[in-house]
Amino acid sequence: MPSSISKATQRNIAENTPAPASRLAAYAEVVGAEVVDQLRMLARPLEGKKIVHVNSTRTGGGVAEILEQMIPVMGELGLEASWEVIEGNDDFFQATKGFHNGLQGNAVDVPKALLDAHYQVNKTNFARLADTLAEADYVIIHDPQPAPLLALMSEADGKSAKTNAKWIWRCHIDASRPHRPIWRYLRQYLEPYDASIFSLANFAQPLPHPQYLIPPSIDPLSPKNIDLPDDEVTKIRMCFGIDPQRPMILQVSRFDWFKDPVGVIEAYRLAKKHLPLQLVLAGGTASDDPEGAEVLAAVHNAADGDPDIHILSLPPDAHGTINALQRAADIVLQKSTKEGFGLTVTEAMWKGKPVIGGNTGGITLQIVDYHTGFLVDTPEGAAFRLRYLLTRPKLALEMGATARNFVREHFLITRHLRDYLTLMLGLRKGDSSRIEL
Ligand code: UDP
Repeated sequence: MPSSISKATQRNIAENTPAPASRLAAYAEVVGAEVVDQLRMLARPLEGKKIVHVNSTRTGGGVAEILEQMIPVMGELGLEASWEVIEGNDDFFQATKGFHNGLQGNAVDVPKALLDAHYQVNKTNFARLADTLAEADYVIIHDPQPAPLLALMSEADGKSAKTNAKWIWRCHIDASRPHRPIWRYLRQYLEPYDASIFSLANFAQPLPHPQYLIPPSIDPLSPKNIDLPDDEVTKIRMCFGIDPQRPMILQVSRFDWFKDPVGVIEAYRLAKKHLPLQLVLAGGTASDDPEGAEVLAAVHNAADGDPDIHILSLPPDAHGTINALQRAADIVLQKSTKEGFGLTVTEAMWKGKPVIGGNTGGITLQIVDYHTGFLVDTPEGAAFRLRYLLTRPKLALEMGATARNFVREHFLITRHLRDYLTLMLGLRKGDSSRIEL
């Protein structure tokens, strides 16, 4: 049944976990002091450098999730990091949703009027951001929405602006087989960048500048991931009417076709023929995603009033609630058909949960089939793995423990920062073949 969480309850579920006084000292407890020492060493030559991140939404989705945590840590490392958000209108977000779908392989047609809106919105935002961008040492543009800012900068200031700052395009999307017309349109804006970053090798595209592979990460200390006392988890079950006696499976994601929430309902129904299951689909909509309402309606339709399917529309800052739901789940699903990375997979793995994920994109980087989770291609495959895990609780526990270690090793914010710092130093090293620290 559709549910929404009351404001009072949200406040009670650790939404406002205060950030520790020194995040770096706290990370050292999780990953070891030497990892943090290395970060400080890499950051020293970059002290005082201005890093400007630009994306198109302050809340909702993985990019906002990462920036929210990363900006203060960069600050603690002595960099002057800031985060700008470009403001769009309906036509702009229609266009950029088209880019998103097109980059992920859908044969979408984005009409010229919407392409013009995309450019015009960038132009308006450029007028507001020009000074900040001109003063930056590094500009990191996230995804296609703000991609034209560099062209606008060069247009406004000639070559000088570009040579002051290093401009990096950070692609969070599975761009392995983009729809060609969309790629051609975006490529004109991407070519002048100094570098681009992809999460997986096969997402990279022919571009006339160096390309780097940097997978995203989660912050173990954020309200989304911090350890929670058991009573918070019990509270969340009660709050949403989840029966503690029967297994609960969960998918957390924006209501987006690529996340395949309807496929999750199918998998649940197949597995439920054999096991007494409950399904929670927790999601919200990002402010830069105009398709959410349509997908949510399809999900309600597919759920067809089943009282064991809980469809939760959560506000974008319900981090503690999602944290508790992930901990309450017996198994987490992320049955995406395309996925740039899938922070929800990382979050669940960090909580020691076995994850059943779509065999696609960034999920394959995280789920090592049979070890840190299971990869599936169909609802039938997901149902089979649900039954497999729910009837083997010891194996599910072991898999969850392996998953948590895998995240500690590869997908925490400390590794992500190390990669960013190294990249920034690398772009500054000129002709030298090594980075001097
Ligand atoms: N998320 C959230 N509320 C929601 C849905 C998702 O806070 O209703 C968070 C989720 O926990 C994760 C991020 O948004 O941190 C989604 O990142 P992911 O890489 O999984 O997918 P994206 O939305 O970027 O495609």
